[in-house]
Amino acid sequence: MIAEVIVDVTNDQVDKVFDYIATPNILAGQRVYVPFGKRIIEGYVLRLKEHSDLDAKMLKTIIGAKDDYPVLTPEFIDLNDKMRKAFHLRNVDCMRLFIPTQLRNGKAKPLYINFVETTDAFKPDEMLLNVRKNATKQIDLILSLKEGQLYAQSELNKKYGSNNVNKLIENGFLRQITSAKIRSPERIAKEDKQVTLTQEQNKVVEQVLANRDKCHLLFGVTGSGKTEVYMHVISQVLKEGKTAILLVPEISLTPQVLSTFTARFGDDVAILHSGLSDGERFDEWQRLRTGQARIAIGARSAIFAPLNNLGVIVLDEEHDPSYKAESNPRYQTHDVALFRAKFNNCPVILGSATPSLESFYKAQKGEYMLHILPNRANAKSLPPIEIVNMCDEVRAGNTGIFSARLTEQLTECVKLKNQAMLFLNRRGFSSYMICRECGYVAKCEDCDVSLVYHKEDNLLKCHYCNRRYKALTNCPACGSTYLRMGAIGTQKVVEELGKLFPDVTILRMDFDTTKNKNALNELLTTFANTKPCILVGTQMIAKGHDFPNVTLVGIINADMSLHFSDYRSNERTFQLITQVAGRAGRAEKEGRVILQTYTPRHYVYRFVSNYDYLGFYKKEINLREVSGFPPFTKIIRILVTSTDKDDARATTARLYSQINDYVALNREQFLFCKAMSSPISRIETKYRFQILLRFKLDTEPKITDFLYDIVSNDKHQKSTVFIEINPSNMS
Ligand code: ADP
Ligand code: ZN
Ligand code: ZN
Repeated sequence: MIAEVIVDVTNDQVDKVFDYIATPNILAGQRVYVPFGKRIIEGYVLRLKEHSDLDAKMLKTIIGAKDDYPVLTPEFIDLNDKMRKAFHLRNVDCMRLFIPTQLRNGKAKPLYINFVETTDAFKPDEMLLNVRKNATKQIDLILSLKEGQLYAQSELNKKYGSNNVNKLIENGFLRQITSAKIRSPERIAKEDKQVTLTQEQNKVVEQVLANRDKCHLLFGVTGSGKTEVYMHVISQVLKEGKTAILLVPEISLTPQVLSTFTARFGDDVAILHSGLSDGERFDEWQRLRTGQARIAIGARSAIFAPLNNLGVIVLDEEHDPSYKAESNPRYQTHDVALFRAKFNNCPVILGSATPSLESFYKAQKGEYMLHILPNRANAKSLPPIEIVNMCDEVRAGNTGIFSARLTEQLTECVKLKNQAMLFLNRRGFSSYMICRECGYVAKCEDCDVSLVYHKEDNLLKCHYCNRRYKALTNCPACGSTYLRMGAIGTQKVVEELGKLFPDVTILRMDFDTTKNKNALNELLTTFANTKPCILVGTQMIAKGHDFPNVTLVGIINADMSLHFSDYRSNERTFQLITQVAGRAGRAEKEGRVILQTYTPRHYVYRFVSNYDYLGFYKKEINLREVSGFPPFTKIIRILVTSTDKDDARATTARLYSQINDYVALNREQFLFCKAMSSPISRIETKYRFQILLRFKLDTEPKITDFLYDIVSNDKHQKSTVFIEINPSNMS
């Protein structure tokens, strides 16, 4: 037999399938050791076949199997083919997604525990006759043994000394039993809340189960009971002997969310996320692979959970940007979910209170089946959103962070011993330029996206076309010199709050204060137990939290994400505000949201304050069509990086000249095609150049494949070339 093997080497030149002679018992999907050049390395058997096209004398033989089971099921071998094609990945990149690092680097091994028990062969008296008189520890041990009881060997070793325990094992008095121990991540115990589905929820469950070959978009306001819908569908497919994957954005993977699922499904749930130790991750993966757990819950990468016979795949908060892997290996989770669903013939559910424009557009076109849950499950209305014009505050002499209205409401909230959350929707570190008196924002004349201020060369740059503008000193609209670049940080907000409310507990939750594994949980617990209390935070506070005493949500500067240089910044702002607003007034107490902005008349704020997703969608999708942005076009960035500047530049030029020939022949398809240095021209010693393309979709598969081919066939040695599709970070 011949085995097609891919070798575990990250090198474009080695990204091929090699034929080896298979030793007996080698299985497709198994990890093997193979001779490669002068070395022995690891590889993966993709397929077995009778004959090789190569001369048999040239073929080397597999040395042996690495594990006693195939780590890749046939589904993953199929997925490898599909993902390579769709995302231009190397085989080895796919393997690295499919197989947990802990298994690949051999760092996590199963944890074995030795137990001992007495054997029937010797009674205690007989044992005593066979030990030396002065071996007092052995005698003590024998006297303590009870028939039929299992002792952890490590415990006995501690008490009696390992040499004594081993002696009794050697003598045949004790029998050793080895068992693998499962390291399970900690879960918060919670009682399962059994609910009867509303008629609306029931209808969704029924329709999903009746249309299993479809992708379903579940558009339901925050608190409408989407999670209950997922759980009912999962419960049904488990009854049929199938399995399920539920994906949640990493920052929403809170202990509360996890305990909701473990309360209902118990040990059937396996959790995969970055907070786990190597051993825990490895064991959870094994539990899924062997069928001990049938539901995988985790962030993006859990889409590769080693489950067979999938019955449903759920992407909760499907609009979340984290579903797109933006660094190598780059992939879109939605597409992977659809590949797996097709293979397993199971439905996909995309759930959100604010679906991505792209998904909603697909639902409108009939590609996805649309379901709507318009009301909260507990029939409570959503909290009112008040818009405060910060330009008025500046004109009235208040140049601080908090408007008079927000200060007043915070005071009220504290007085009633309730809780408040203050939100800074800051993304990345880039900054825009805004006039604090009239709200003017510097935008690109060609692209209508906000310009990014680059401090290093004191310029405003457009990340979509590379046009550069002088930094402003006066507002072109009103002449004011009261311009501000960029963003306030959480720390500054906490500082200012401390001055206003010296006696109130103020907590800060952002990337810096939650780096440590347990810090986030501790923060949340403190918040839950402190009244009054003000929590200041970034996106992290927007997700999944359910605190009944939060009556006030303040959005410090809603514009921060609105003027981010990204064609999706309106959409992202709408999504973020809806999400944070959903934190207020979830239980009996009424909630209120105060949104501070310098551009109060922006249509995003009008729609968001009415919770009018559909109105927003119509307006925004129209704009995208008119301005030529996705989903009506596709943006591709070919990013070339290298420590050798000349090589990066030459590689870019070489690729560009080939692409440009093609563009010249197909002029009408392209809205844009240019080579340039990246807005941030150097990161961590690597120089960065890029080719930006924007083209109409009708010819799309051909163009994308064509670009992939050009990059694959180029012999770039010193530079690395990435292809990004509709990237959100263009810096
Ligand atoms: P979503 O995921 O849409 O934000 P959840 O599923 O978390 O909403 O539901 C919000 C709250 O409503 C939860 O506390 C949940 O237990 C409750 N809930 C959901 N469905 C029902 C129902 N049919 N009857 C009563 N309570 C429900
Ligand atoms: Zn102005
Ligand atoms: Zn531009």
